Amino acid sequence: MLQLNFHPAGRHQLSIPGPSPVPDRILRAMSMPTIDHRGPEFATLGFKVLADLKKIFKTEHPVIIYPASGTGAWEAALCNVLSPGDQVLMYETGQFATLWKKMADRLGVKTEFIGLPGLEGWRRGVQADLIEARLKADTGHAIKAVCVVHNETSTGVTSNIAAVRAAIDAAGHPALLMVDTISGLASADYRHDEWGVDVTVSGSQKGLMLPPGISFNAVSPKAIEVSKHARLPKAFWAWDEMLEFNKTGYFPYTPSTNMLYGLHEALDMILGEGLDNVFARHQRLARACRAAVNAWGLEIQCADPAVYSPVLTGVMMPDGVDADAVRKIIYDRFDASLGTGLGKVKSKMFRIGHLGECNDVSLMGTICAVEMGLAMAGVSLKGSGVVAAMAELQKQAATTRAPTRN
Ligand code: PLP
Repeated sequence: MLQLNFHPAGRHQLSIPGPSPVPDRILRAMSMPTIDHRGPEFATLGFKVLADLKKIFKTEHPVIIYPASGTGAWEAALCNVLSPGDQVLMYETGQFATLWKKMADRLGVKTEFIGLPGLEGWRRGVQADLIEARLKADTGHAIKAVCVVHNETSTGVTSNIAAVRAAIDAAGHPALLMVDTISGLASADYRHDEWGVDVTVSGSQKGLMLPPGISFNAVSPKAIEVSKHARLPKAFWAWDEMLEFNKTGYFPYTPSTNMLYGLHEALDMILGEGLDNVFARHQRLARACRAAVNAWGLEIQCADPAVYSPVLTGVMMPDGVDADAVRKIIYDRFDASLGTGLGKVKSKMFRIGHLGECNDVSLMGTICAVEMGLAMAGVSLKGSGVVAAMAELQKQAATTRAPTRN
């Protein structure tokens, strides 16, 4: 039986694509005493996190914070702008796009799921031309929203959101653009306003380096306008009361105060490092991880180098190798967790997370654990991924600024 009080020496190597490791600085901030969420002190915290979050989403407009996991923010996004029977165009990039669609079906909207056939759609980003063609055919403008996932956590594939916006515009279609960047935010470049996104959904436990538990809706003025007439039932998720209370730094119901302390600390860390530096660090780590996978002679799940995820790398197993059996060896023997394959790719691949509180040396720890685990599982490797990843990191270290603490 699992012993919850058993702690092996050293830190557990949490290398799943979220929840990502929570820095000690954030854990310490979260241990501050809980304060009165209607008292004077609270508004200072509320105002500060609501303002700084906008910089992360790159928006001038409101960002709503829910005490919920990302799934709650998915529901909030849909039920605030849609009415029963509305048509929604959703794009299949992987398991999370599939789950968002399932939720929309349960909420009583008419979903249409488009994408490339078979597993192809799970290996490439959103094909904006498919969206453009579908919207052009919708001459009566029955489709009320287009929903896409920016960083598909189940596969390690990103999508070009600016291209989706351009496709909607080229079709001259008024549908709202709704984007899930639950695992992309604060790790992969994201621009809510510039890309003309109407609702962005995100969560705390990935690039923001917080534990799971809070999630977000960034909302455009058009989305707010549409929400005034949307008729799907909502109460807890309703934007109107949230937006009203947030104007004064408060929330309509009890917020998760200590998570907000953590968020405050996380925003300070990310903005202190500089968003562009954060993105460059993720790209560097992702390149090193891919160098390892290539050196092992294994296939990367993402088949289009233009949309490799900076957040995670999906590693496909050769025929006959159960990816979960490899993960189990790595977990049991080296105290390292990798992401399991989800949905259509269950047991065919595992996922290496390289996001948030991750640096060159922590990534190397993970790659060492994976290389040892693959060898122990009897997977024949072409060469050493450890050596290849080190070479890649050293090459980049020669040309990029060293991380600095001052
Ligand atoms: N969307 C994406 C892209 C995700 O990665 C996840 C979780 O991993 C979710 C949605 C669901 O979020 P949660 O598990 O926090 O409810």
